[in-house]
Amino acid sequence: MTTLTRPVTVRCPFCGQKNRVDLARIDAGPKCGQCQRPLLLDRPIKATSDDFDTTIATASVPVVVDFYADWCGPCRAMAPVLDDFAARRQGEVLVLKVDTDRDPGISERFGIRGISTLIAFRVRGGREIGRHVGLADAAQLGALVA
Ligand SMILES: [Zn+2]
Repeated sequence: MTTLTRPVTVRCPFCGQKNRVDLARIDAGPKCGQCQRPLLLDRPIKATSDDFDTTIATASVPVVVDFYADWCGPCRAMAPVLDDFAARRQGEVLVLKVDTDRDPGISERFGIRGISTLIAFRVRGGREIGRHVGLADAAQLGALVA
């Protein structure tokens, strides 16, 4: 018998523990295996160099990463659009945020020259499938993973 699962690995925003979550069972309300707090996937999840590669490489859904900085005006302007996108595509698309000031190594590897930059990664293996530089609207976000 085949069971359809959509596993992703995400870091708990509270305790930092990496958790494997089955997006096919997201209605059950996934919790962190360590601190038991809910893992909320209806919003962008912060990723760091500690977990970024694992999350991208093992995700069974497309991943959209927002490379941002706290001082970046366009990033702030886009935050609600990104939040809404994450909420509407919960379980189908994983939305991550990388703080380019805290983790310059990741941005360097992907040749990020300006922020905000959005990069979409393919299911499993994490090859880049799309990139958008600057403010994006909902349609442009959707197009990245279409
Ligand atoms: Zn936790």
